[in-house]
Amino acid sequence: MKLNIKDKFNKELPADLILENTRRQVSKACFSYVTPKQTANPELLHVSPEMLKNIGLTDVDAKSQDFLNVFTGNEVLQDTIPYAMCYGGHQFGNWAGQLGDGRAINLFEVEHNNKNWVLQLKGAGETPYSRTADGLAVLRSSIREYLCSEAMFHLGVPTTRALSLALSGDQVLRDVMYDGNSAYEKGAIVCRTAESFLRFGSYQIFSARQDEETLKTLVDYTIKHHFSHLGKPSKEIYIQFFKEVSERTLDMIIHWQRVGFVHGVMNTDNMSILGLTIDYGPYGWLEGFDFGWTPNTTDNQHKRYRYGNQPNIGLWNLYQLANALYPLIEEANPLETILESYKTGFEQKSQNMMRSKLGLFLGKETDINLIQSLEDNLQASETDMTIFFRNLSEFRKEHPEKGIDLMKEAFYVPNEIKGELLSNWNLWFTNYANRLKGETTSFDQRKEQMNKVNPKYVLRNYMAQLAIDKADTGDYSLIKEFYQLLKKPYEEQSNYQEWFAKRPEWARHKVGCSMLSCSS
Ligand code: AMP
Ligand code: MG
Repeated sequence: MKLNIKDKFNKELPADLILENTRRQVSKACFSYVTPKQTANPELLHVSPEMLKNIGLTDVDAKSQDFLNVFTGNEVLQDTIPYAMCYGGHQFGNWAGQLGDGRAINLFEVEHNNKNWVLQLKGAGETPYSRTADGLAVLRSSIREYLCSEAMFHLGVPTTRALSLALSGDQVLRDVMYDGNSAYEKGAIVCRTAESFLRFGSYQIFSARQDEETLKTLVDYTIKHHFSHLGKPSKEIYIQFFKEVSERTLDMIIHWQRVGFVHGVMNTDNMSILGLTIDYGPYGWLEGFDFGWTPNTTDNQHKRYRYGNQPNIGLWNLYQLANALYPLIEEANPLETILESYKTGFEQKSQNMMRSKLGLFLGKETDINLIQSLEDNLQASETDMTIFFRNLSEFRKEHPEKGIDLMKEAFYVPNEIKGELLSNWNLWFTNYANRLKGETTSFDQRKEQMNKVNPKYVLRNYMAQLAIDKADTGDYSLIKEFYQLLKKPYEEQSNYQEWFAKRPEWARHKVGCSMLSCSS
């Protein structure tokens, strides 16, 4: 196994001087050296062929003992020193102080084809940042992260990715619903990858501790390696840096809204500085279109991280990042201007995103009303978001009255579509048909374009759960199947048609399908 190792983070940034792996506050350092835990009986369940290639490895490498040992934590590659990153964060709106990589251990950085990849094990044992937890991960959450991050990539959503999914062979104790019913589960390790795993909280921690020196070192490092196109660090460049982070964050969230992804825990420690979707925990996919939905049971009361609130939370998190960077800039105005333009940018970009989902290529002012009334209808009748938009590409403007039939399989309670609901839908299809008459694209062109933004296949919540239930019995076939299926989410795949179906009733209130906790 030959990798082009190019460590930078642990070479250029200040390290924790204490080498003992004890839980504590770590100051004046960006990371702590830590060795992954030895695992009892590691077994690779899946390796991503694309990620292998991205880091310059082959299928033969993936079958080697070295690969298994390194990516399950049992062997440290020569000349590399694994480490856990120090960061803080606002959790559910409150400053939580130091968090850090409690169960993620960075192995090394690889450069290949002019790209930088950090390889990081999630679930590889405790670190100084583990607080009261064990540093481990269970199979169910590892399957969810592995499949979803790769699926998001193929959907065109900025995201961290994953190289491998392995069983550790160890047992891990978890209380899934936090109700006192703890049980042992299979331990697992995902090797995650990203250009960088830096988060908003990576900067916040130094600002909160009034450690401006380390803050500046880290920001300069970030610009040098990840925003080098901005130029040499200076006050002006720090502002540009914040502007770009703000834009990337917004773009990422607009993508989430487009595909119906709900992150579930948008704490500032889970916001990537590169605008990547990061930390797949109690996330979920919209089945019925619902702005008020969150998959995270921990957030059930206030629903802070509900689907419709994600763009606002992105902004709230950016305010926290602006506060963290302020000591380096010492001027509030430029930061406020950028935050203001997030708001107008959001209006504009979300409208354009909805237009693209509807196959409208010419911007018309009245589109806002068409979009608004569609969202009202979707909200009023339980409608499968993925099926609705996919089927909409079959809509013919000559036959608005057939719109409702097109959506038959998208409605969860077809009997409910009568009376006022039915007439609202028919009215909408009529307005939509009229609006389409103002477009110049042909039916086929529109269909082709719409099918590029409205996926046919997403990792529906119950699908992930089916893969997990099977894997628990030692059958990993669904992991393979979904991995294949989700590589081409926008394509018709007749052999996988069964996964283009609304959530079955058994999954409506099932733990793992509609209700998830942070216990992972
Ligand atoms: P999350 O909500 O998953 O983003 O995690 C918040 C914080 O808790 C991060 O600092 C994690 O590293 C830490 N954490 C979560 N689960 C564990 C675990 N099993 N062991 C140690 N730390 C954990
Ligand atoms: Mg996290």
